[in-house]
Amino acid sequence: RELLADRVKSLTPSTTLAITAKAKELKAAGKDVIGLGAGEPDFNTPDHIIEAAYQSMKSGETKYTPAAGTVALKQAIADKFERDQHITYDLSEVFVGSGAKHVLYNLFQAILNDGDEVIIPTPYWVSYPEQVKLAGGTPKIVKGKEENQYKVTAEQILSAAGPNTKAVILNSPSNPTGMVYTKDELEAIGAACIEKDLLIVSDEIYEKLLYDGTKHVSIAEISPALKEQTMIVNGVSKSHSMTGWRIGYAAGRQDLIKAMTNLASHSTSNPTTTAQFGALAAYEGPQDAVEEMRSAFEGRLNKVFDQLNQIPGFRCIKPQGAFYLFPNVKEAAEMCGFDSVDEFAKDLLSEANVAVIPGSGFGSPDNIRLSYATDLNSLETALKRISEYVENKK
Ligand code: PLP
Repeated sequence: RELLADRVKSLTPSTTLAITAKAKELKAAGKDVIGLGAGEPDFNTPDHIIEAAYQSMKSGETKYTPAAGTVALKQAIADKFERDQHITYDLSEVFVGSGAKHVLYNLFQAILNDGDEVIIPTPYWVSYPEQVKLAGGTPKIVKGKEENQYKVTAEQILSAAGPNTKAVILNSPSNPTGMVYTKDELEAIGAACIEKDLLIVSDEIYEKLLYDGTKHVSIAEISPALKEQTMIVNGVSKSHSMTGWRIGYAAGRQDLIKAMTNLASHSTSNPTTTAQFGALAAYEGPQDAVEEMRSAFEGRLNKVFDQLNQIPGFRCIKPQGAFYLFPNVKEAAEMCGFDSVDEFAKDLLSEANVAVIPGSGFGSPDNIRLSYATDLNSLETALKRISEYVENKK
């Protein structure tokens, strides 16, 4: 008897996880594989955060909290928005969930009816289309063109939006491209979203990882009307190297936050209490570690960027944020005799012992994603291996 529901039958597994699993398998078999697939900082969580979480448990904070998070953590998050974005949120406009991924999942469940469309710019983070589909929605894919730094324009959003389009996802800084929208671009996009009455889902999880003096602007801080039109999603995973703690949050319209809270109250309940105490310390404590990690990423980026662009058939725009490089490698794949970048990436793993993520999973099949959330030595060795592989094969 078929037990699986239609909605899971059409789910595609995460390409990121598939390659990472294959790389681990090869490593376990004794192969010297360098993995550049990582989607998480390679630093430990700062000590004061671990200590605060430990002390909270020792003092008996081991019970349920309100479904949308403790008042103290919501206040710390509201204070963060006030400090960094100059936006004032009431605590009833803040929801804390089990990682930004869960927060996004809840949000799409809360806003989408069957057939509602969500504009998703490519290259996109792999989970957006699947989450939209799981909520009964239809992804409306809009291409961020390479000549526009893989960013979409207000005109593209205006022409993609139809009567069933309910929301648009923005992710700046972007995973996988590392590109950052400027204030002017956001103003234009914001005006288009107001004109078409589209909810802006602004995923700002890489907000703290910016390079070369680039500034992060949240679309919600541009005007009170755009604050009303936007749901910001953020979290401590990338900023404070807390991926395993599973704390993310959203801030936006009270009716949506209430619906997300109700959903959580019947599914996950509160995010892990201990992790909430860790996140509270992350926001209330010193921020030196955030800057130290950012500066380490920037150092690595500057060290390896030219090396990457010198590989025959590789063409990469310098990322302004996050910790990924997203070169267009179509020419390199062709030179090496492959019809697709997917096959090229597979061969890189088996022949050059370097794991990279093919761009097809991000809706951008000519690219690969390499993460520089790994030590400099491995990174340089991996690029050398790729370079030698292409030189030999072309
Ligand atoms: N959004 C983007 C763009 C991401 O890259 C990630 C993690 O890879 C997330 C959201 C999810 O983060 P979290 O660990 O808080 O669930």
